[in-house]
Amino acid sequence: MLNVTIWNEFIHEKEHKDIAEIYPDGIHGELARFLGTDEKLSITTATLDMEEHGLPKEVIDNTDVLIWWGHSAHDKVSDEVAQRVQEAVLKGMGLIVLHSGHLAKPFKLLLGTSCTLLWRDNDRERIWCCNPSHPIAKGIPAHFELEREEMYGEFFDIPKPDDIIFLGWFKGGEVFRSGVTFTRNRGKIFYFQPGHESFPTYHNEFIRKIIHNAVHFVSPTEKIEKLDCPNPQPLEQ
Ligand code: ZN
Repeated sequence: MLNVTIWNEFIHEKEHKDIAEIYPDGIHGELARFLGTDEKLSITTATLDMEEHGLPKEVIDNTDVLIWWGHSAHDKVSDEVAQRVQEAVLKGMGLIVLHSGHLAKPFKLLLGTSCTLLWRDNDRERIWCCNPSHPIAKGIPAHFELEREEMYGEFFDIPKPDDIIFLGWFKGGEVFRSGVTFTRNRGKIFYFQPGHESFPTYHNEFIRKIIHNAVHFVSPTEKIEKLDCPNPQPLEQ
């Protein structure tokens, strides 16, 4: 059984009626609903307004994969919780960062770059799979379209990814590395661009499948207790 924790700042859904209509239980609730159909996953959700943002040490220690959606309140996430997430990833916890989470504190701590990009509201996106043999691309066609999605464009200031799995092309002509993976110590990270709150992106069957595949891909191979390496015994002469 994999323990998956879905974190959402959960602000837009409470403040905008049109967004609440798309995600009546919040974006975290929608993600939990479709991932919950996998009997191998045990799902928990957490939101910004909870004590320690719903991510106290016990929850993080018990999480195999953390999914993160944030946008308007990155600065409201405490440094302590952000560092707790960073350290857990280094020790083996998987992390999936969605859409505007590119500026989330834990993501920036782990990547070490500004993670800035170009953006424009409301465009049409075609997502191309450029790595069809990757486990995250399993069951995904060569390309599919989102009728409405926020444009995210290059230059996306991230370190060179382990793999680029999806490329986004927008009607306005921009392109974007939409699905990328990183490794940080024992932890695997997947960043996935689609998911603007005012469009029904997480209702799309391919988007759901990609996130589902990613949960299994970033799940821990090995979790370690400490980050410091023991001194090796010298080889016998
Ligand atoms: Zn957005």
